[in-house]
Amino acid sequence: MSSDLLIAGAGIAGVAAALALSRAGARVDVFERAPQLATEGAGVQLGPNVTRILRAWGLQEALNAVAVFPEQLCAMDARDGRVVGQVDLTTAALRYGAPCVCIHRADLQALLWQAVHEAPGVQWHWGQALQSVSQAAEGVTVHSDAGQTWDADGLVIADGIGSQMRRHVLGDGAPTPTGHIALRALLPMADVPLAWRSGDVWVWMGVDFHLVHYPVRGGQWLNLVLVLNRPHTDLDPGWSLTGDADWAQRAVARSCSALRDVVGRVTEWRYWVLADRAPMASALEMAVGRVALVGDAAHPMRPYLAQGAGMAMEDAAALQAAWLTHANSGVAAAWHAMAHSRWQRVARVQQQSRRNGRIFHSAGLVRWGRNWALQTWGSHLMDPAWLYGGGPVPKP
Ligand SMILES: Cc1cc2nc3c(=O)[nH]c(=O)nc-3n(C[C@H](O)[C@H](O)[C@H](O)COP(=O)(O)OP(=O)(O)OC[C@H]3O[C@@H](n4cnc5c(N)ncnc54)[C@H](O)[C@@H]3O)c2cc1C
Repeated sequence: MSSDLLIAGAGIAGVAAALALSRAGARVDVFERAPQLATEGAGVQLGPNVTRILRAWGLQEALNAVAVFPEQLCAMDARDGRVVGQVDLTTAALRYGAPCVCIHRADLQALLWQAVHEAPGVQWHWGQALQSVSQAAEGVTVHSDAGQTWDADGLVIADGIGSQMRRHVLGDGAPTPTGHIALRALLPMADVPLAWRSGDVWVWMGVDFHLVHYPVRGGQWLNLVLVLNRPHTDLDPGWSLTGDADWAQRAVARSCSALRDVVGRVTEWRYWVLADRAPMASALEMAVGRVALVGDAAHPMRPYLAQGAGMAMEDAAALQAAWLTHANSGVAAAWHAMAHSRWQRVARVQQQSRRNGRIFHSAGLVRWGRNWALQTWGSHLMDPAWLYGGGPVPKP
């Protein structure tokens, strides 16, 4: 069987790539290891650089139905409960032409899927794990775990942080554990103390941990993400496993009472052992001939700038632009253009994410300097114009 393009993985990156490439006129076959679209996950924040893309794809109304539009981002010192920095997100929306939103990952996945699942020329293959790809002058051949093969003009690898396909193509091993784990939980808003029932994004910075919380699902649930230093962990690196409430309570034991109170209300945490790769060093990590790499498969990053899913959607918008402009010159030319337009921006996001992690968890003089800098320049430091004002925007 032959088609224009194959996509490995139907996470945020794969579904967004299918949407973008079908809008650019490509025929696409998507292969997903799981038997159906994933509904697990927790909250994600999306900056204006991402909501601008969703709007261009005509998804603003669908986004309005499920997202929360926070008005402020507040940075707090977890030890004494003081506000150390604030930024008004409503003015960000005016400046960047698109809002910041908080959304449940499953809602984001579903709204992308609704926009593409019946698009002409898009085929879905569930329960099909791809294993390897070979390239020849005239196309690619992919092989599945079940021993099937497919031929196409090109391939987009979007199979996530543990990407089997990346290892096959780039041969650079597995991502490296960062020494941090993330605990995530959802609390019904009705169970949350009144003072915490705000529609805003809050970041509490403690010694060796930070906690982020914001509402999702139209404000019905409070999403909590608690990131802890945990070097040399022997925890299972799998996705979304059940964590221990005691880890969370111990981490915040020396924090202000408001924080301890809310963390104490959570009975079920899911944990992720965080891993990443060094910031990209060249476009070769996103395009190798007729094979493109996007999302976490290409550039897994620490979640401290809240841009992993955002970068996956920017990748999709860049694939769309590259296919529209360069498809006549061939798949390799299109992927080469996409990778060159992306890698330096993504590398900057990866670097900044690593730096934020160090700053968020600091102690002593560094903590003091952080709080002083946020009090003095918070609205500037917490509102990165290069990030929110940049990135690709597909033609509507
Ligand atoms: C604690 C935490 C908080 C986060 N917060 C944010 C945030 O606020 N904002 C933000 O933008 N991002 C955030 N992220 C990052 C974001 O969740 C990821 O970057 C994003 O989901 C990656 O999408 P993806 O499609 O590349 O990978 P995935 O979501 O992992 O999807 C990969 C897909 O490929 C499939 N697959 C795997 N192997 C194969 C195979 N061999 N063949 C076929 N299919 C395969 C998988 O089943 C899966 O469906 C956060 C991450 C964490 C851990």
